[in-house]
Amino acid sequence: MTDCLFCRIVAGELPAEIVREAEHTVAFRDIAPQAPVHVLIVPREHLGSAAEIEERHGPMLAETARVATELAQAEGIAERGWRLITNVGPDAGQAVFHLHFHLLGGRPLGRLVQGSPEGVR
Ligand code: 5GP
Ligand code: ZN
Repeated sequence: MTDCLFCRIVAGELPAEIVREAEHTVAFRDIAPQAPVHVLIVPREHLGSAAEIEERHGPMLAETARVATELAQAEGIAERGWRLITNVGPDAGQAVFHLHFHLLGGRPLGRLVQGSPEGVR
């Protein structure tokens, strides 16, 4: 028994609207969606955040990218575009301390990182 929310969802102990189960990851809809498509892609292994990723997590990260791409296709946002983000620590607003990637799309998401108007030099 763990008190980690996402470990419990991954274990099937708490309900979630699961949209994909894969070898290293489980994907489910965010309970408070910030966009028409808002899915969380979560590793089965408990990691507190992206700051705990190691070399051996390569296959999990590759699977995360593939699942995001396939879900974007399935959810109808592949053409218009989507965002895959992960928050680490208080300034980023991390609220759940089990690594998760937010897949967001279905509306213009705005510029998260303001590039220089002349572009990157
Ligand atoms: P963070 O701020 O840590 O990057 O994001 C945590 C996310 O988890 C939030 O978008 C929040 O809505 C979502 N969340 C929190 N509790 C639950 C839950 O019990 N079920 C689901 N599906 N999402 C949750
Ligand atoms: Zn966990």
